Amino acid sequence: MGKTALVIGGGFGGLSAAALLARDGWGVTLVEKNDQLGGRARYWHKDGFTFDMGPSWYLMPEVFERYFSLFGKKRSSYFDLSPLDPYYKVFYGEGETAELTPRFEENKELFESFEKGGGAALQEYMEQSTYKYEVAMEDFLYRDYKHIGQFFNRRLMTEGLRLGVLNKLDHFVSGYVSDRRAKQILEYAMVFLGTDPAQAPAIYSIMSHVDLKLGVFFPQKGMAGAAEGFAQLCRELGVELVTNAEVKRILTKDGKAVGVETAKGTYEADVIISSADYEHTESTLLEKVERTYTDSYWKKRVVAPSMFIAYLGIGRKLKNLEHHNLYFAKEWGGHFDTIFKNPAWPDSPCFYLSCITKTDPTSAPQGCENVFLLVPVAPGLADTDEQREEYFLHLVEHVKEVTGEDLGKDILVKRLYTHRDFIQDYHAYQGTALGLSHTLMQTAVFRPRHQSKQVKNLYYTGQYTHPGVGVPMVLIASELIAKDIQETYGR
Ligand SMILES: Cc1cc2nc3c(=O)[nH]c(=O)nc-3n(C[C@H](O)[C@H](O)[C@H](O)COP(=O)(O)OP(=O)(O)OC[C@H]3O[C@@H](n4cnc5c(N)ncnc54)[C@H](O)[C@@H]3O)c2cc1C
Repeated sequence: MGKTALVIGGGFGGLSAAALLARDGWGVTLVEKNDQLGGRARYWHKDGFTFDMGPSWYLMPEVFERYFSLFGKKRSSYFDLSPLDPYYKVFYGEGETAELTPRFEENKELFESFEKGGGAALQEYMEQSTYKYEVAMEDFLYRDYKHIGQFFNRRLMTEGLRLGVLNKLDHFVSGYVSDRRAKQILEYAMVFLGTDPAQAPAIYSIMSHVDLKLGVFFPQKGMAGAAEGFAQLCRELGVELVTNAEVKRILTKDGKAVGVETAKGTYEADVIISSADYEHTESTLLEKVERTYTDSYWKKRVVAPSMFIAYLGIGRKLKNLEHHNLYFAKEWGGHFDTIFKNPAWPDSPCFYLSCITKTDPTSAPQGCENVFLLVPVAPGLADTDEQREEYFLHLVEHVKEVTGEDLGKDILVKRLYTHRDFIQDYHAYQGTALGLSHTLMQTAVFRPRHQSKQVKNLYYTGQYTHPGVGVPMVLIASELIAKDIQETYGR
């Protein structure tokens, strides 16, 4: 009999790890608590509308291409991609808008229109962003860190300042541009990493290379469709995918994991990989002595935002919106403060609004629009039905003022989703959408470990671990642990 591996959780982290282990000859079973695979990247279907419940920005396409090449396969055999043009539209309030496009010269002109010399400043900023991105790909992201000495490698010691490990992004961006609209374009992606730009290390300026150079894509069946492609790869490799099978306990013997107890019975395994929310795996599925991290460790973490999401099926076309739309408030520091400093429901928040019908008309009935409205909010907020409804009504007015589109009219389908849902659906710590923020002290070697300290054959992948939040990052995490497992146990 060959060796067996059991994967907890069927999001991108779990699916990508399961396929890699199956490639390496393990007999793999993946158990997922929900009735659908995809994790945070699931569908919600209602009355002819198909909503992508979680991620919607397909970024860093090369990471996906590389992942499939590890199997001698092509991504295009599993799902198709549409490039977006414009990449996204920004609303600045008071009727002002801007579009970022695949044509860099246009983006330069936009920056020049914000301030004299802005075009050249963008060019210069992008050059350093590209350089850092290449270094990060070469030396940081695809590298596992078991101890701090590995983090402070030669490159970091010699180039740490240039790479912007120690200074903060907000400050760094101000060295290039001073117009607030330009600054916001160069900083907003920190929200993807669950981080306040004033607290993010400047190395994350790589995100501008990610969106403005590598581009923004949309998988033709949405991100949940891309997750289905990963599930298909798993099936081809013989992975057993079991849904509705919530893990209740990780079973151990003599300090080793030997299996899991689930809602559908017990599964034995030689190695276990958890992609479920890290704090849940540690605090609920293991005994206290088997945990790597204490309760106080979790209490001291900077937890990434939760999200207030409205999935709306609108019975008319919305002419002011593109596929991806962002609103950057004049004083966005106030919004970040309500997330990270003084937790509260933000009053005039920045928001993200996607309208995937602009690219995929099949996601809504004819003549209708598929709308996803998202506001990042502090984790751990009180969340009652009345509060949700009240906040939604407030947001509708706010969105109308900013975009000129009234989302309160012609609603055919509506679902509100926030803290309680993240906890119920994913066991998310404090209802976080994204896990842990990317502050310096929660980057690379400072993120929770890929391998348990107490239970040596228990591994972790997913967004809580290095390299971190976002679909491309969790694919990299799975590649790192698969390599580690292969080195420890052989193929
Ligand atoms: C609203 C939203 C928007 C986002 N936007 C983007 C974006 O545009 N682009 C991008 O790249 N990233 C985005 N992200 C982040 C990205 O979705 C995540 O980083 C990534 O999908 C996380 O994958 P994962 O496998 O680590 O976790 P998950 O997808 O959460 O998978 C973990 C799985 O474990 C399961 N599980 C939990 N407990 C148990 C248990 N006890 N037993 C069995 N199963 C269990 C859960 O049900 C879940 O399916 C977004 C996230 C959210 C929530």
